[in-house]
Amino acid sequence: MAGRLDSFTLIRAGLLIDGRGGPPLERAAVLVRGSSILAVGPEHEIAAPESAHAQTLDFSDRTVMPGMVDCHTHHNGFGDGRAGDDLAALSDETLTLQSARNARASLFTGVTTIRENGPKNATMLRLRDAVRQGVTVGPRMVLCGRPVSIIGGHMSYFGSVVTGPVEGRAMVRQLVKEGADYIKITATGGSTRTSYPLLPSFDVDELTAIAGEARKFGLLTAAHCTSTQGIVNSLDAGVDMIIHCIFREPDGRFDFKDDVADRLAERGAFVNPTLHVLRSRIWAALRNHGEAALTTAARRRMDEDERAFETAIEHTRRLIERGANVITGSDSSWGDYPLGNAVYETECLLMAGMPAMDAVMSVTSKAAKAIGVDETVGSIEPGKEADLIAVEGNPVENLDALWAVTDVMADGRLVERGSQESISATRQLRPASS
Ligand SMILES: [Zn+2]
Repeated sequence: MAGRLDSFTLIRAGLLIDGRGGPPLERAAVLVRGSSILAVGPEHEIAAPESAHAQTLDFSDRTVMPGMVDCHTHHNGFGDGRAGDDLAALSDETLTLQSARNARASLFTGVTTIRENGPKNATMLRLRDAVRQGVTVGPRMVLCGRPVSIIGGHMSYFGSVVTGPVEGRAMVRQLVKEGADYIKITATGGSTRTSYPLLPSFDVDELTAIAGEARKFGLLTAAHCTSTQGIVNSLDAGVDMIIHCIFREPDGRFDFKDDVADRLAERGAFVNPTLHVLRSRIWAALRNHGEAALTTAARRRMDEDERAFETAIEHTRRLIERGANVITGSDSSWGDYPLGNAVYETECLLMAGMPAMDAVMSVTSKAAKAIGVDETVGSIEPGKEADLIAVEGNPVENLDALWAVTDVMADGRLVERGSQESISATRQLRPASS
């Protein structure tokens, strides 16, 4: 953009968390030139060149940190409990408009990069085009195009169904052609009505072909796994990220497998446990019915959901203890979890025993690494793009500071976030009895 390289912004920070894991720096400053970070350090060491016209942003009563990175979004979704099967029945036009609305919720709440995990057809590719054309605003987008599924498998309604290694390779090539940045695979069934969440979907030779073809083009892969055999198959195929990572047997039993967890940790595969999406179902049930009015069937479902959530927290705790690369990926707006609330997932990682600074990194630098954009974003360092946020409070002392985002900078520009009322309207509230 003409003239942008000569525009400097000096940002004063009461506290700076650069996202690299070191102790926060008091009275710091960040110098931005155009869209990228030029210098970072103690306030007295950082200044714009004397001749330059520099804008100053004074966040000396706030914490400045990297913009958040959400590794797992569903921008087509509503977060009001409707199933993916119901989303898929909507027109691409409606889904693209809803995605635009969700993209604003992401960006305005401080998420400056997302990785999209399951949109229908080309809806997100077209939304990204529209953002690039200046039609609307949104975070940086790392897109799969569509998830690759088996016939009847999880998210098969979104438009990329394949059978066998040959079709698997062909679909990867098709998605690359359309502009995909990574390949999402559903390695087990899921909430899709015609799928089997406790069974693997693809065979290992199919997964290997899909992952291998993605690697050939330099793309990362991520696999949805809601049962153990899917995790094992994905590791065999060399998949880079395990999503959900639910240790569950074909008969429905939860059974954490030490050997599989060790393999995950040794391989350095990233794990995205998606905890809050489970809690969201419980919250929605409490909110919709009130504890007393629950029917027997609803009560049973809630008990199952509570058990699934507690088990997932416990299994995530064991993964963290074993040194697995656990990161934040919200899975919103899937199910009852609306976009604009990624912090709840990071909160669940804290509940699973992740140290506070690691939790902050799980939604900044580690998340950026997990989705292959760490050379560009995820930390506040010279040479990186100026995606950062100002928050009230210190998120390492109290993660709730991440709800108190006062300013968002993306690409070196302050984002116009609209009214405080519209931002707080995206917040998913805790039910009174939780
Ligand atoms: Zn998902």
